[in-house]
Amino acid sequence: MPIHPFIHRPDTLMRWTQETDPQQLQSLWNIADKVRRDTHGSGVHLRGIIEFSNRCIRCCSYCGINAENDRINRYVISAKALLINIKSIAQAGCQTVVLQSGEDPDLDEAWMADLIRFIKNNYNMAVTLSLGEKSPSTLEKWKQAGADRYLLKIETSNPELFRQHHPSGKQGFEHRINMLRTLQSLGYETGSGTIIGLPGQTFIDLVHDLQFLKDLGLDMIAMGPYQPLKKSAPCRDGNHTQNQVPNSALLTHICIALARVMNPSVHIPATAALAADQQRDTRWSSLSRGANVIMPNFTPQKYREMYAIYPSDLRNNALRGEDLVQNIKEHLMEMDRYAILNHSETVPATADEFASAGA
Ligand code: SF4
Repeated sequence: MPIHPFIHRPDTLMRWTQETDPQQLQSLWNIADKVRRDTHGSGVHLRGIIEFSNRCIRCCSYCGINAENDRINRYVISAKALLINIKSIAQAGCQTVVLQSGEDPDLDEAWMADLIRFIKNNYNMAVTLSLGEKSPSTLEKWKQAGADRYLLKIETSNPELFRQHHPSGKQGFEHRINMLRTLQSLGYETGSGTIIGLPGQTFIDLVHDLQFLKDLGLDMIAMGPYQPLKKSAPCRDGNHTQNQVPNSALLTHICIALARVMNPSVHIPATAALAADQQRDTRWSSLSRGANVIMPNFTPQKYREMYAIYPSDLRNNALRGEDLVQNIKEHLMEMDRYAILNHSETVPATADEFASAGA
């Protein structure tokens, strides 16, 4: 009997999240891979990401650029540099640009709307925003400007654990859920996700997370292993709990596979946190366990270290632009997969055009 008709049941999920038998796990990888192949085919979406600012007012416990970290320089990429990198993403053939920053209340709403409009008018790309919590009216303006998707991770479905890890949040757990619903009602393709192995997280939390993400009716689900801010720190630091979930790549892969079987049509990225240790870049194997998206990072090198939300070898990856995409294409070919890319030439918009567009 196929395993997936019952996979959403709490007892079944609990068993799978704690499974260690290689043969059993292989059966999970096989079914997740089949569901992914039947629903999405062999193509992998490349979504080029630019971390254009590390300014943030939040104090998320797991994040290296949180507002309390006064040991890093804060930056906002200039409009001109931003456009050059957006153009690189388009030229590399990516069908989506992801604009990401910390949560910055000073981010100019109109400037962002102009930027979105400019991208949509000049490039054949979808626009994904990942800019933290914003008001419904701001989200509506950006949607009207042409934004396609928004990513807002919930990180945990346990309200108490959420509160512990988001101490500065005047707008708490409920507010974040409301914003996800607002995004959906405005017509955004909406993404959320969780951290695997967050200090204090139990297996019961993990099971609830998987059900919670399904119930939200999302278009994208992103899950990555918790990365301690200091590489030397034990993996289970913070609010240690007796039933602490490990922050392993294996458990993250199990959750990705379960999420795939529970939500066949969602897009699931092979998250950068799976490549935090270059010696064990497990993004590629996650693509055979349910994931179908990869996000090449087009942030200029000089800013990457300042966007260190967690320690990661990937930030030192010198590959840029088309070389980075070529590298991904070669990896995918070895896996008998292919990158879904635009083949038509994009309009060669310039930074000056963007400036004259008023942004
Ligand atoms: S996770 Fe996002 S909102 Fe939280 S501190 Fe980091 S950049 Fe800011």
